[in-house]
Order: sequence, then C-alpha cells, then structure tokens
Amino acid sequence: MPTLTTPTVPARVALWEGAPGIGLTSVACPAPAPGQVLVRVSVATVCGCVRDAVRERRLGSWPTVLGHEGVGVVEAVGRGAEALTVDGVSLAPGMRVVWGRDVGCGACAACTAGLAGACATPRELGRQPMTDAWALSGSLATHLMLPAGAALALVPSGVPDAVAAPAGCALAVAAAAVERAGSVAGRRVVVLGAGMIGLAALAMAVEAGAASATAVDPRGKRRRRALAFGADAALDVDARVPACDVVIDAAGGADTFVRVTDSLAGGGVAVVAGARSQVPDAVVDVERLSREGLALLGLGRPAPRHLADAVAFLAATHAMRPWAQIVSEPRGLDAVVEAVAHSGGSIARVAIAPALRR
Ligand SMILES: [Zn+2]
Ligand SMILES: [Zn+2]
Repeated sequence: MPTLTTPTVPARVALWEGAPGIGLTSVACPAPAPGQVLVRVSVATVCGCVRDAVRERRLGSWPTVLGHEGVGVVEAVGRGAEALTVDGVSLAPGMRVVWGRDVGCGACAACTAGLAGACATPRELGRQPMTDAWALSGSLATHLMLPAGAALALVPSGVPDAVAAPAGCALAVAAAAVERAGSVAGRRVVVLGAGMIGLAALAMAVEAGAASATAVDPRGKRRRRALAFGADAALDVDARVPACDVVIDAAGGADTFVRVTDSLAGGGVAVVAGARSQVPDAVVDVERLSREGLALLGLGRPAPRHLADAVAFLAATHAMRPWAQIVSEPRGLDAVVEAVAHSGGSIARVAIAPALRR
C-alpha cells in the first residue's frame, strides 16, 4: 500500500453558502479512508454546471464546496483498499490525475453491473452538502477527497494542466455524446453550441472520421473558435442548416434543437447533451420519426469509460488544436467569485490554481 502522507495544513475551499454567496474557508484535511484518494488540486476549471448552479440557486443544500473539473496530484491513498484508475492502474502518491464528475453509489443494480454512469443515485462532485464524512467534495479547493468508486485517470506527461482540467466534465460529456450518436465515421455531424463541450464534440467527431462537422452558435467569436477546432463550417443560429446525419446538442437551447433536427436525413440521430430550456409548444413529428427512422436520444451521465476516452483523446490530439487558448491564465482561489460570474464568456474556461494566493 502506498504510504499515507496527510498534509498538516488545512485545505482551503470555495464554499457556496446559499444566500451570502461564495466564500473561502479552511477545512481540516483528513486522512483518506480505505478506497479514498486525497488529491492536491493543481488547476480547476469552472464549467457551466457551477455557474448555472450558483446563478439559478439549484444546489439543494449548502454549504457546498463548488467545482468538479480539475487536475491534480495524488497526495495520499487510503490504507486497506486498493484505489485504481479507470484503466486499472494502482494509484499512488505523486501521480497526476483527472477525475470524473459523478461518483456511483456502488450499491445499485447499475453500479454492481459496472455501469456507474447509469447509477440511480450518483453523487456529483461540487454539489454535495458539506458533512464531516465528506467535507472536501469539490475541486475549487486546494484539496479534494475522491470517495471509493470515483473515476480517476492518469494524465500523460505531455498534456498541460490547463488542457487536462476540463476532462472530467466537458470532455467526458462530449465523448459520451459522440459515442451515443453511434458511429460518426462518414456521417455529416452538426454540433449546437461552441462552448467547451461543443468544441470537444466537434474535434472528436472530426478525429472519428466524420464526413463533415458543422458548428451552430449565436456568437461570432465562438463560431471562429469552432473552425479552429475542426469545424468545416460555423453557422449562426438562424442560418439554414444543411442536411445532416448526426446532431449533437451541446447548447441546451431547445428552440434551436427542434429546428435543427428538421435537417436530419433519414436514419439520422440527435443527441441532447445538456438541455437547459423547454419549448412548451415544441412538437415532435412522430410520424416522421417512424417513417425516416430518426432517433432522438438523451445523454444521461458520462460513465467512467468516457473519462478514459477523454484523456486518450487529449493525449493523442491536444497539440493539434488550441486548447490552451480557450482556458484563462490560472488565478488563485480568491478569484473564484469573479470566475464563476464570468465563466462562459469569450474564453471557454476560467482556470483557478488553488495554490496561488491571487
Ligand atoms: Zn460540469
Ligand atoms: Zn449506483
């Protein structure tokens, strides 16, 4: 078993405290229990989930340590149980890792069948009420305690921290969406939304041999960015979308999704990877679905294997695309309030290096 070296300094965390907002506080850094992995966070990125949760006050209970995207170094592994990466490597202090957003309960039918992505009661990092049993449950912190059953993956040495950090949410979701669409090789792919998930889905579809990759986004800056990530064309939301075989919705705007699916050719597939709005009068043309063999699919949560897919994709292709340019220069935890308020703007991710003071 790896030696346990619990830090004597307390962890510093960004805590969502309900009405008062986000504050920074210190928390004792406990020794990991069997199966748990204590990670020192090098860089955390602020994904849309955090921003939405705070803006919309959706976090059911607080205080909550925010954040789930990030990359860090294993500080300690609990004694008495081996902790493995998604590739079956035994984790040890000093290893550079990323982690999945969701942790399966480990007990339901899906989890015991090895399908943690379909767990009935998953725990999402960055959304847990802070308890004595699990205080370090978010990545916007100097330290994160990953519970037994969490998905971890080693980061290959050539992949920079800022590029690896979004793997656990955005890139894993993109990998899951591309997989859900079935084979994209030789198919015309349209991706709605050129944020981090959309850009990753575009790049993954291109790598997988898509016949074409078209981005749809209302903002010119994001459309230009999509071209740098492999899109053949980038269209405004009101432009006519050419016939396509696969639609991946990474934007969450139901009105655009409904309209773009009109462009699906026979046998086409549409995957909803992050619905955030409803269209009360949207009508699904069931007769067309049946006649043309279309599929409208929800995504669900990414599974541990999608984290492995995301890391493998970055390892193979990160140098080909300007990933580092769409992540901000890291700032300290003190900048987290501003980071949460401003994420989703001209850059895809605000990066926080918790060890920095500012
Ligand atoms: Zn997220
Ligand atoms: Zn479960």
